[in-house]
Amino acid sequence: MINLATRSVPARTPFMRKLLFSVVPLVLLSALAFAQPKGWNDAFPPFRIMDNLYYVGTKELASFLFVTPQGDILMNTGYESTVPVIKAAVEKLGFKFTDIKILIAGHAHPDHVGGDILVKELTGAQVVVGRLDADKTKEFRSQGKEHPIDRLVDEFDTVSLGGTTLIAHLMPGHTRGCLAWSTTLKENGKSYYTFIECSLNGQYLQVLDNYPGMIDDFRATYKKARTFPVQVFLSSHASFFNLAEKYEKMQKRGPGDPNPFVDPEGYKAHVDQYEKSFEAAVAKRNAQGPQGAGRSQ
Ligand SMILES: [Zn+2]
Repeated sequence: MINLATRSVPARTPFMRKLLFSVVPLVLLSALAFAQPKGWNDAFPPFRIMDNLYYVGTKELASFLFVTPQGDILMNTGYESTVPVIKAAVEKLGFKFTDIKILIAGHAHPDHVGGDILVKELTGAQVVVGRLDADKTKEFRSQGKEHPIDRLVDEFDTVSLGGTTLIAHLMPGHTRGCLAWSTTLKENGKSYYTFIECSLNGQYLQVLDNYPGMIDDFRATYKKARTFPVQVFLSSHASFFNLAEKYEKMQKRGPGDPNPFVDPEGYKAHVDQYEKSFEAAVAKRNAQGPQGAGRSQ
């Protein structure tokens, strides 16, 4: 989602309050207004999704770990305060956090890239960032430190390590450079097209970047989303792909039962649902008059 969050709660002192409500730019105020949602950092049991892919995120902020003989790939760090939860999840699975060699940054929102600096410090991993999201990503600093960017990637670029290859797909709208990633996973002799979405969430127009062309980008992205032969469906937020429900099924899974994360119908329904809520938000804004309608063009 797009909640712009910080760990610090604003307005701790009268001075701060005065500062916040007088001179702090509107942009920052709106960022502070969207404090880190409660429960998003709550731990979720780490587990194997399929093949060498593991879930190491929280109840809501999805992080994924590909384990390979040459080291591991982590995707999405959440907030800086999420990193200890991810680290504990990785270690609970019996893996070493320092084996992470590549960090694929999530899209340029603080609930996905806020922990990148800390992960870089703890692991020394190469940090891969989508080129069109790079400028926004750089805005997320921690204690004055710059966001680490070691490699910029574009549409169809690949990230490979120890026999795992991920392909980047540009899905702009939610952010200008939102990247989804595809790969193939195997289970019981079958191969599955696996798609880790960026975010299709366009229902909160007032807190999105509203860059020129955003509306057109969103529309093209919903169309494009339907062209992928998605079998294993994953995304940046647990709620987008019903993590809790699928995890429950996974726990009860018997021999011969399907892997609940193979969910092509759930993927299609998700695209439909988010396209609908986006168009409803656009229609609502357009109804508010030309001033509101023109904002994102
Ligand atoms: Zn987001």
